[in-house]
Amino acid sequence: MENKIRVAVAGARGRMGSEVVKMVLADDTLQLVCGIDPRVAGEDNDSPFPYVADVETAIREYKPEVLVDFTIPAVVKQNMITAINAGVRPVVGTTGLSAEEVQNLRDLCNEHQVGAIIAPNFAIGAILMMKFAQEAAKYMPHVEIMELHHDQKLDAPSGTAIKTAELIQQTRNEMKQGHPEEKEIIEGARGGYYDGFRIHSIRLPGLVAHQECLFGALGQTLSIRHDSINRESFMPGVNLAVKKVVGINELVYGLEHVMFE
Ligand code: NAP
Repeated sequence: MENKIRVAVAGARGRMGSEVVKMVLADDTLQLVCGIDPRVAGEDNDSPFPYVADVETAIREYKPEVLVDFTIPAVVKQNMITAINAGVRPVVGTTGLSAEEVQNLRDLCNEHQVGAIIAPNFAIGAILMMKFAQEAAKYMPHVEIMELHHDQKLDAPSGTAIKTAELIQQTRNEMKQGHPEEKEIIEGARGGYYDGFRIHSIRLPGLVAHQECLFGALGQTLSIRHDSINRESFMPGVNLAVKKVVGINELVYGLEHVMFE
């Protein structure tokens, strides 16, 4: 029988991590070796798999091949460094890593010849939304991005909004939009500035993860919108990444690079 891929999940009790746990347990080709959560480690709980406090312990005691990380911006970078140094392949959904941090992690992966996948958004529909927005920006360069998330989200704008902005930047020449003498009466009213266009972050209970790219041109607008209505929406993408990461030796940023290959 084919060997199962050994997976550890950091943030296994979080909103996303608990979905990852269900997804891994439901897939016969994957084996959940442990969850990582500083608060439950060592406690006697009813979990069908063990919990440890940190990535070092997980690697030493349970020898995962893949570390799935849905934790918090403050710990994800160190979790990745620990994994890559030990030859364990990270699949990372946690947002908040800067471009410079991603570059440093890329260098570390190259040094150790270890694969890693970081995806600001694992929902396949969201990847399509970003791809279509990039295409639309060629023909309709006036754009604003609105991202809407639940009110427990720690970072703004979302990783998906930043990634979309980067993709749009590649196809659109920098151009300041709006009236040249525009003034904000309330600070932040026009949103965050990125390469001449604006990103607006909305946080409300009841939302999951949503984004609309709104394009405007003479006498017309175009909306490209994606809605994740629950967190299961991300799991086919995480599953794909876990299976792909064991076959690569470099860092891949963005699910599109494994989806459209
Ligand atoms: P969450 O519910 O707050 O879960 C985060 C979990 O990480 C919590 O259970 C937390 O435990 C745990 N944690 C904190 N420090 C840890 C550490 N040192 N080691 C291991 N676990 C630790 O957040 P979420 O909604 O699941 O989101 C998690 C991340 O995924 C966020 O960055 C979010 O933006 C991102 N996200 C990405 C995607 C994507 O498709 N890429 C989709 C949705 C969300 P305690 O509560 O006990 O501190």
